[in-house]
Amino acid sequence: MNEGGRQKILVVEDEPDIRELVRYNLEQGGFDVVESEDGDRVLELVEESNPSLMILDLMLPNADGLDICKMVRQRPRSSKLPIVMLTAKATEVDRVLGLEFGADDYITKPFSPRELVARVKAVLRRSDSGGVEEGRRDVFERGRLKMDFESHEVWLDGKPLEMSLREFELLKFFARNPNKVFDRLTILDLVWGGDTYVEPRTIDVHVRRLRILVERDPAHPELIHTVRGVGYKFSPDALE
Ligand code: CA
Repeated sequence: MNEGGRQKILVVEDEPDIRELVRYNLEQGGFDVVESEDGDRVLELVEESNPSLMILDLMLPNADGLDICKMVRQRPRSSKLPIVMLTAKATEVDRVLGLEFGADDYITKPFSPRELVARVKAVLRRSDSGGVEEGRRDVFERGRLKMDFESHEVWLDGKPLEMSLREFELLKFFARNPNKVFDRLTILDLVWGGDTYVEPRTIDVHVRRLRILVERDPAHPELIHTVRGVGYKFSPDALE
């Protein structure tokens, strides 16, 4: 952490408009910002400015964000630096979060700046509270269901469940917001991060798949309820 109380964020992004947008919103959110438009000096900048977190674009003109991520991770001084990746390629997300590269979170373009700042704060909270240490992992555990939000693993009745990242994110959203009704647009905004190319009906498809995975009887859901004319509600009591 730095002396002034404001945490410093290093933003590595080649598109000036996006960089400016990110900088503005982070400053509004109470952070100091150091910018870089290319990947060449990232390692030096990390050493010089000692940021609390780095926001890293996946596609830079002279460098691959994943390579930078890996290099930062390999250096003892920066191996624990929280990294949030910006990516336009949803297909890369599994690799971005994978063990090989080890970003802490990601956000897909186009994104809402508000969402980005919220993610940055969440990642910082996690790293401040020692979220990476054994025994203090960020998990949800209730009755039949267990989710590890760091390793992205899910178990039902003790057996591992296979699900896509979006399904995971959606289930995580429900687990963190129990017994509240959300309409599709709100879910879309909070889980899909304002990705405008996604139709609200996409949520129905994901909910259907989640029900097949986690409900005792997907035809009569007791966990993920449809609230007619509104949206969905998660009832964790049914996990007991
Ligand atoms: Ca770029």
